[in-house]
Amino acid sequence: MISFYPGPSRVHDSIPSFVKDAYKEGIMSINHRSDDFIRMNKRTITLLKEKLRVPKNYTVFFTSSATECWEIIAQSLYDNGSFHFHNGAFGQKWFDYTKRLRREAVSSPFDLNTEPDPGLVPEEFQGIICLTQNETSNGTQVSTAVLRKIRKRNPEALIAIDATSSMAGIRLDFKNADIWFASVQKCFGLPAGLGILICSPAALETASRINEKDHYNSLTFMMEMMEKWQTSFTPNVLAIYLLMRVLESSPAIDEVEQEIVARYEGWTSLLHETNAISHLVTNTKVQSYTVVPVRAEEKVIDAIKKEARKNSILLGEGYGPFKPYTFRIANFPAITQKEIKTLKSFLRKY
Ligand SMILES: *Cc1c(COP(=O)(O)O)cnc(C)c1O
Repeated sequence: MISFYPGPSRVHDSIPSFVKDAYKEGIMSINHRSDDFIRMNKRTITLLKEKLRVPKNYTVFFTSSATECWEIIAQSLYDNGSFHFHNGAFGQKWFDYTKRLRREAVSSPFDLNTEPDPGLVPEEFQGIICLTQNETSNGTQVSTAVLRKIRKRNPEALIAIDATSSMAGIRLDFKNADIWFASVQKCFGLPAGLGILICSPAALETASRINEKDHYNSLTFMMEMMEKWQTSFTPNVLAIYLLMRVLESSPAIDEVEQEIVARYEGWTSLLHETNAISHLVTNTKVQSYTVVPVRAEEKVIDAIKKEARKNSILLGEGYGPFKPYTFRIANFPAITQKEIKTLKSFLRKY
């Protein structure tokens, strides 16, 4: 089966041999307070920062998922409100989770084919501005230019970005925000079970000032432990090891992005040529580079899904309200040219 599911997604071909190595090297039963773990953790974080071009003064933490990051932000970094731009299911969910912990959280929905309007954030806002850079559910993204504008207009606010389905696929300009997070089962091409949280010095200052200590995953505890390259609970050591191995062999992010953008252009030109299927998002300025949502009449979608399965191709289901008339194609780095060619010749018929 060839998987084009946008998470959990196709893993790198090297994963089985890395898992074997992990077993041979004793990684699976390593103590998370040992020097061996500390060395591995430090190496993984150093590589991550190098390869993804994360500023040196930002701090990387490991969590169990992106969902956990939503909650950490609401519990440990919230004191002056949060403002949520969202145009799809994941941004909405993030807002809903925050709302359960923080009733005053504010939501600002925007339309599928538009960009979020930086002017909507209240003047001199000092809380957290939350935004999903790549909305996996509908295949839209927010450009670096918009993020830069939001940053410029709101020097007092913390900016938190969900980059779950774009981190390690495209180059993110980390200095435009204070909190970035992702999980590894999307663009990193790894099995699920590890989240990555990246914080600016300003975010850590806020966490220290608030000093929230009510939870096992309170950011202050995580900070104390990460100063010693450790975690506040036994982490997914195997996943950290696999991340390290994958990063060791992956090109720098600029090179990865170039390839991803070229492949994205390949998908959009295919969708121009076809008759019965088209891109769900009509404004090319907001089309995601890493998730391609395809729209067609319901009966065409049903036929494509059925036929794809017969051809051992797994397409991503449409998400939420889009489900009946869309499917999604992951454009993640681990997918091979050959697999893309197979799906393209399959779709060209429509
Ligand atoms: C997949 C996804 C999540 C959820 O990730 P988990 O690892 O399941 O918590 C959150 N946000 C976005 C944008 C996603 O694509």
